[in-house]
Amino acid sequence: MTSKGSRTNAVHGGTKRSQWGELSEAIFLTQGFAYDSAEQAEARFLKSGPDEFIYARYGNPTVAMFEERIALLEGAEDAFATASGMAAVNGALTSCLKAGDRVVAAKALFGSCLYILESILPRYGVEVEFVDGADLAAWEEALKPGATAVFFESMSNPTLEIVDIEGVAKLAHEAGAIVIVDNVFSTPVYSNAIAQGADVVVYSATKHIDGQGRALGGVVLGSREFIRGTVEPYMKHTGGSMSPFTAWIMLKGLETIDLRVRAQTASAKAIAEAVSKHARITKVSYPGLESHTQHALAQRQLGAGGTMVAFEIDGGKEAAFRFCNALQIILISNNLGDAKSIATHPATTTHQRLSPEQRADLGISDGLIRLSVGIEDTDDLVADVLQALDAG
Ligand SMILES: *Cc1c(COP(=O)(O)O)cnc(C)c1O
Repeated sequence: MTSKGSRTNAVHGGTKRSQWGELSEAIFLTQGFAYDSAEQAEARFLKSGPDEFIYARYGNPTVAMFEERIALLEGAEDAFATASGMAAVNGALTSCLKAGDRVVAAKALFGSCLYILESILPRYGVEVEFVDGADLAAWEEALKPGATAVFFESMSNPTLEIVDIEGVAKLAHEAGAIVIVDNVFSTPVYSNAIAQGADVVVYSATKHIDGQGRALGGVVLGSREFIRGTVEPYMKHTGGSMSPFTAWIMLKGLETIDLRVRAQTASAKAIAEAVSKHARITKVSYPGLESHTQHALAQRQLGAGGTMVAFEIDGGKEAAFRFCNALQIILISNNLGDAKSIATHPATTTHQRLSPEQRADLGISDGLIRLSVGIEDTDDLVADVLQALDAG
């Protein structure tokens, strides 16, 4: 088959039809498979190929369709679907690390990713060093003693700093490390992470891939050797596999991800531009704005600013709370990538457990708001943000 555009792949990639020729992907809601004979059972256990299923923790037809579709979109050789984004992050790291290994990671991380790197891996004898992800000189210094793996979020949460995948990958590869990128904020729509040097890409499918706030899921993408030789044995024996029903939700999510994410991005840019001019805003972080310090890098790496906007309201926590409480369309929550727009106050929710010093170090002030922009009408969203700012 000749190579197809990403929207075509998002709709058709990986589809396997049963003898009934169903138009929409079937949900194979089965944990097991019956064999025609004892000989066939023996043969399947000997050679478990991609279309030879024996148990849903090892693989399932609906899950396999999702893995093939997302691998096509990401430009990866293969993928392993997981029960959540964290099962994917943990699986990518733990499956390839052992006692005595060294990991260099960006310090601005999703809370549970930080927990794995800061609290779990060191218990098993893995040394982890944290760096400022946007500072290539800091990566170079930290990679001098060598490393087994580097881990970072390509766009950080919640301050939307971009980590230069190409730059870090070059340094990491020279140091002998594999590059594992948590690419959630960049989305599969804008990602070129593998072409830019990432060895392994991880998504929480809970976010833009589902895109409608229904299910937890995740995926690890990489070379066939890494996915089938390293990740799959770890995941299938430790139990973090994706359920067939979740895979079906994620397959249907992928069909519309391009349309949703591009619409969300257009509204995010409009909101970023509108709040930039508002007197009560002291800082806006949106990589799609020319005023963003990493605008050129964002354009080179993603070609867009993405679906998230962060801004600081003058007046700290009280002003931020007044803003959230005055919103009429945008919901107060902590999810992201959803069709519904969501406002988060990171200092008191997602990043509450950090010390005030850690929050200050990461740029998470008491006035900071993180918006996950949905697919509502752009004008309605801009008007909602502006009226909530004026109300405070
Ligand atoms: C949400 C998220 C995760 C974890 O995904 P879950 O599906 O909630 O387990 C990991 N990394 C980033 C950047 C996320 O936003």
